[in-house]
Amino acid sequence: MVSSLTRSITWIRIVMATGMLSLAGCATAPYMKGSAQSYRTSQELAALTETQIERGKPLVVVDSLGWLWGIPGKILLFDRRVENHRIDSHTEAAIAAYLNDNELSTVKVRLNQYRPLDDWKRLAANKSVGVGWRYTFGAVIVLGETIFPGRVFGSDHYNPYSNTIHLYSNVPALAVHEAAHSKDYARRKWKGTYAAAYFLPIVPLYQEAIATNDALGYVMTTGDLQARQEAYEILYPAYGTYVGEAISGAVPGGYFVALIGGHIAGRWKSWDLARTHHGDHDAFLHSRQPAAID
Ligand SMILES: [Zn+2]
Repeated sequence: MVSSLTRSITWIRIVMATGMLSLAGCATAPYMKGSAQSYRTSQELAALTETQIERGKPLVVVDSLGWLWGIPGKILLFDRRVENHRIDSHTEAAIAAYLNDNELSTVKVRLNQYRPLDDWKRLAANKSVGVGWRYTFGAVIVLGETIFPGRVFGSDHYNPYSNTIHLYSNVPALAVHEAAHSKDYARRKWKGTYAAAYFLPIVPLYQEAIATNDALGYVMTTGDLQARQEAYEILYPAYGTYVGEAISGAVPGGYFVALIGGHIAGRWKSWDLARTHHGDHDAFLHSRQPAAID
C-alpha cells in the first residue's frame, strides 16, 4: 500500500517535472517564426481561405447556453473568459498577428462561428492530408463538429483535417496556442498519420508541448508584461489538464494533481516575470537618478 503510494507520487513527479521543464526550457530559446516555404499546404484549400478570420453573429440564447456549458472549463482554468462565446478584437488581433508573423495563410479561424457545410468543403479541399485519413478520422471529427456545435458545447480546438481553428474563449494566449497547432501541422509531411497519433496515449503531451512552447515563445517575444503573465497563467494549467489525462488512469486523483501543479507553476512563472520586470524597471530608474538630480 505504502509502496504503491510512493510509486504513484514518484510517477506524478516524473511526469510533471518532464512536462513543466520541457515547457520552461524551450520558452527561453529564441523564437523561430515559421515561413511559408517550409509548409506543405493545399492550393485547393488556399482558394477557400481568402477571408482568413470569420466571426459568428451573436445569438443570445445559444451563446448563453454555451456560456453555461463552459462553466467547468472556466473553473478548471480559473478564468471567466474561457468559453464565454464573446471574442473581442484584442483576441482576434492576437491570433491575426500570430498567423501573419508565421506566414500561415491557409488555416481558417472561426470565432464563435458554426459553418459545418463550409467545414465539409474544407475537408474535401485539404489535399495536404491523405484522402484515406480525411474520409475516415477527418469525417468523424467534422461530423462531431456538425452534430455537437461548439457554439453550445465549446471546446477551443484546431481541426487538422479541415485546417480550421474553432475558438469560443476570449483568451489571447489560448487563441495563439490553437494557431500554434496549425503551425506544427503545416510543417508535417504525414499530417493524417500525425493527427491520428494524437489518439494514442502520451502523444497528446508531445503535440501539446510543441503548441504550448511555440505560443509561449511567441507571446514572450511580442507581448507586453500583462500578455506574458497571462500566457503563463493560462497555458501552464491548460497543459496540466493533458498531463492529468495522461496519468489519471494510473494515479488516483492524478488529473487534479497535474491541474493544480500547472496552476502553481504558471502563477510562479508569472510572479517571477513581474518581479524581474519591476527589478529591471527599478534598476533603470536608479541608473537615471544622478542625471535627474543634476
Ligand atoms: Zn492544444
